[in-house]
Amino acid sequence: MAVKSVFRFVDYRIIAHPDSEPTYAAQCLNPDCTWTLAPTADGEQADVDCMTHRADTGHGIFSRSYQQVAVVVPAR
Ligand SMILES: [Zn+2]
Repeated sequence: MAVKSVFRFVDYRIIAHPDSEPTYAAQCLNPDCTWTLAPTADGEQADVDCMTHRADTGHGIFSRSYQQVAVVVPAR
């Protein structure tokens, strides 16, 4: 996804940094649980890990995060 904006008569766009890959992380929100999923680039495995935690514990509510390194560059 690229978003384009104009500031001070210079066009910029923001993109994913080409030398990075997004990461996925999760944390179980059960108040008695400390399970967390360390950041990983494998989003499908992150989903499987949450489902496995649900199957093992019955805990089904998670905080999930997706993180990306972005870079702002001239639009050209
Ligand atoms: Zn849990």
